[in-house]
Amino acid sequence: MIDASRQDLVLGVVGAGTMGRGIAQVAAAGGIQVLLTDARPEAIADACQFIAKMLNRAAEKGTIPASQANEAIGRVRAVENLQDFSACHVVIEAVAEDLEVKQDVFCRIETIVGDDCILASNTSAIPITSIAANCKRPQRIAGTHFFNPVPLMKLVEIIDGALTEPTVGDALTILGRRMGREPVRCTDFPGFLAGNIGRGFTLEAAHIVEEGVSTFADVDSIMRDVVGFPMGPFQLIDNNGADIVHRAMESVYEGFYQEPYFRPSAMIRQRVIAGLLGRKSGRGFFQYQDGKTVSTEEPKAIPTNRPRSVWVSPVEPACAQALKELLESLGAKLETGAQPSASALCMVTPIGEDATTSVLNQKLDAQRTVAIDALFGFAKRRTCMVTPATSKETVLEAAGLLSADGVPTTVIQDSPGFVAQRIVAMIVNIGCWIAQSGFASPEDIEKAARYGLGYPKGSFGFADHIGVQRILLILNAAQIRTGDPRYRPSPWLSRRGELHGPLAINNYSKS
Ligand code: NAD
Repeated sequence: MIDASRQDLVLGVVGAGTMGRGIAQVAAAGGIQVLLTDARPEAIADACQFIAKMLNRAAEKGTIPASQANEAIGRVRAVENLQDFSACHVVIEAVAEDLEVKQDVFCRIETIVGDDCILASNTSAIPITSIAANCKRPQRIAGTHFFNPVPLMKLVEIIDGALTEPTVGDALTILGRRMGREPVRCTDFPGFLAGNIGRGFTLEAAHIVEEGVSTFADVDSIMRDVVGFPMGPFQLIDNNGADIVHRAMESVYEGFYQEPYFRPSAMIRQRVIAGLLGRKSGRGFFQYQDGKTVSTEEPKAIPTNRPRSVWVSPVEPACAQALKELLESLGAKLETGAQPSASALCMVTPIGEDATTSVLNQKLDAQRTVAIDALFGFAKRRTCMVTPATSKETVLEAAGLLSADGVPTTVIQDSPGFVAQRIVAMIVNIGCWIAQSGFASPEDIEKAARYGLGYPKGSFGFADHIGVQRILLILNAAQIRTGDPRYRPSPWLSRRGELHGPLAINNYSKS
């Protein structure tokens, strides 16, 4: 098998479009000789110019020395004939996302390269095993799933097909590192790795909106401001294109034989049919003009109402304490009794439970009660959840008080796990489900979310930060309230919860 660390390694890249040129660029920057080809000669020339422009720009910005940029540009050779790939040690395919086209490209490459040449596909979703199925030597074929834009996105998923020899993935991992990427390894399962963790984020957000809990703009604000995601789920769908996102959702759901974790969203399907595709069509969940988001929302006025006194439920002591400190800083008069006075505004801080359940369990007056999500702090935004019976006056008093310092408050309808708790719990649960299945290691699952999706934490990082028990509380409460099996906790998570063990990195054992 090829030694991927050999200095004279030659990489062939087939397909000089968005991804192929990015892959060629990072390989050349990593000191690797690259041959770049495409079915369209003009695409090859355009890609070479593009790569030179990108590397020169990096040199102008001081990211790399000018001499290194020049050397890297000199390492990319445009070739019009696939026959010129005969000396390649590795070939990465980045042509159109079409099984037949890819199978044809691989079968042709096989007749040109040596027997020990490694072949890899940059497919986003086609099973590697299917691409390799018609090849003479499927054991040397794997996936190398880079992310767009390649030079900025550090992650590369190395995907082992059903027949791929492990040494092939090992060599591609070494090659990925030489290209300055952060490689993670996974087996060939529907949706691969990062995409499935990301479905916890986007799909749960869509289901929350479908359930009438919140608007998509509010979900985005909560996930950005409260949890620290770089982008809200609906902004992300708009950027990627709702049609692409929905197609991938359907294919993964069917690929796993209708696994409830990945149930697609009927709301997104309808929007795709209506042509609300996102940025590329000018309108999706948000509106766009000249590539910029156009704000259609009126800024919400902060209510001036204030409650006479506030009683905070002690049931979740850490959350209650955090909320009391906030309320004191906002000048609230806090009640200290075990029960609220007859006129108090009641605040509960549940984890998992919806506001209605808290009211019933604690025998509170639903009209005067709101639930506050205290799990992620209050620095940039506060989330206030109401029961179906909470009075308008109570909501205005709660929102007025919570935003007395100018920090916005988002009011949402009743939901087990608010918005943030639910979405984070899904990200954790899907990560644990992947770990349980053995598709990827916990370390790689964590890396995929951080480097491929840009999340502040991955599934395991969130679980350890929030606590495994609390994640289980959220999932179990959501399952009881909705009856939906998509909230069933993965055995990986529930076992560790029962044993009171952490999910922390470096603290894993198989299953
Ligand atoms: P693209 O349309 O920008 O580029 C594809 C290139 O392949 C084109 O230049 C085309 O001329 C060429 N091509 C098509 N058939 C060919 C053939 N038979 N032989 C040689 N060249 C051929 O597409 P892209 O966005 O770069 O995607 C390429 C692959 O990477 C796809 O499988 C896609 O799913 C995957 N991918 C894309 C992204 C993304 O965000 N764009 C991210 C990850 C993976």
